Amino acid sequence: MSKHCPNCKGPLQDFRPANDREKAHLVNKEQLKWADAHSYWRCQGNEGKCRWIQPHLNQSKGTTLPESIDD
Ligand SMILES: [Zn+2]
Repeated sequence: MSKHCPNCKGPLQDFRPANDREKAHLVNKEQLKWADAHSYWRCQGNEGKCRWIQPHLNQSKGTTLPESIDD
């Protein structure tokens, strides 16, 4: 899907579903329930380095993942 990203700004960015590591971060650090974490998508902007993640249809519940998520 393509959506606006508050970190990338500019044109619409491609998003992909959160992977297991990203979902685990949301559950462990952001106190989300697994069922909610499953609805999150991550921005693929900035050549895949953008760390913005949000529920499919609710940007207000989005957050920026820590740099360590890609280690
Ligand atoms: Zn982005």
